[in-house]
Amino acid sequence: MKIIGLEPFILHVPVTGSAIADSTNAVTHWGAPGVIVHTDAGISGCGYTGTLGHLACDRLIRDCIGEVLGPLVLGQDALATASLWEQMTAYPPLKWVGRAGIAQMAIAAVDVALWDIKAKAADMPLWQLLGGNEKKRLAAYNTDGGWLNWSKQQLIDDARRAVDAGFWGVKIKIGKPDPHEDLDRIEAVRDAVGAEVNFMVDGNCAWDLPTAIHFGGRFADYDLYWFEEPLAADDVSGHAELARAIETPIAVGESLYRVSEFRRYMEARAIHHVQPDATRLGGITPWLPAAELAQSFGLPVIAHVADMMHIHAHLAFAHPACRMLEYIPWMRVCFEEPVTVEDGCFVLPRNPGAGTTFCGDTIERFGVS
Ligand code: MG
Repeated sequence: MKIIGLEPFILHVPVTGSAIADSTNAVTHWGAPGVIVHTDAGISGCGYTGTLGHLACDRLIRDCIGEVLGPLVLGQDALATASLWEQMTAYPPLKWVGRAGIAQMAIAAVDVALWDIKAKAADMPLWQLLGGNEKKRLAAYNTDGGWLNWSKQQLIDDARRAVDAGFWGVKIKIGKPDPHEDLDRIEAVRDAVGAEVNFMVDGNCAWDLPTAIHFGGRFADYDLYWFEEPLAADDVSGHAELARAIETPIAVGESLYRVSEFRRYMEARAIHHVQPDATRLGGITPWLPAAELAQSFGLPVIAHVADMMHIHAHLAFAHPACRMLEYIPWMRVCFEEPVTVEDGCFVLPRNPGAGTTFCGDTIERFGVS
């Protein structure tokens, strides 16, 4: 099945409310630079990565797809995902300037599109092609009520709403200028949802090690399920020291670009919940070995939400190390088969493909150039 054309695109999709922020990022629109790959069999696949919606940065990813990766994969077999991934990551001019960031995210978009094609060619949803079981229950936890720029009362209201809707758990962002305010917000949400609800916090890499040890040590008072991205993403030894120092388990992975980085974290005992992101890691092809690596270390895999679920829902349904997944519904409006949560669990996707097929008017509606 020969690749005969690529159509790169950029979507900017509005986030919940007018703007959201965590300790590191603030966005009004979620960016989704990506590509539709066409084949001579009449099957097309769609893949994309996730960004903060900065148009100049999104153009770099789109142009990397269209001008660097496009000529490389054009005319090749679309089903040869392993070979094409190897060619893209080993392509000398791109490797020279890449190995992470823009290059890896552009490769991810193409790789996801190829897996979408592969699953459509097999006439199966991706989770089924990858060996998933349709009886699996995949729990959902909600982050779309925990933004750092929202008031304490908003956090409380949204956490209660999520619990009432049956979500398995809730997560809020931390990283206020004064960490005492974070503790105050954590205490308020814990009081609001009660002792039985799974409750996580996400620092988005805001703190240094002494701050994380001091204030993270207090998290045990609130029975937090995990502390996500407490430190700079490449500080493996810092995470290892923190993991030894505090009771709350550590979650890391959404900012890592290579499977080898996950291995370093696991070997250092610096990670408890493993959060690989296919849209940043270089696609589904490397996501699968990252999940298998975690499983070999006996660690749970909670795929990062960054793509607003559509790829990760399939991967989480497929992989036995995944029991839950994050829910942020910003991009539901874009897809033919939007990911849905009912009674606290994700609904199993049924359409053939990776879940990335857009509604007919999505590019017209949200496309930017
Ligand atoms: Mg996070």
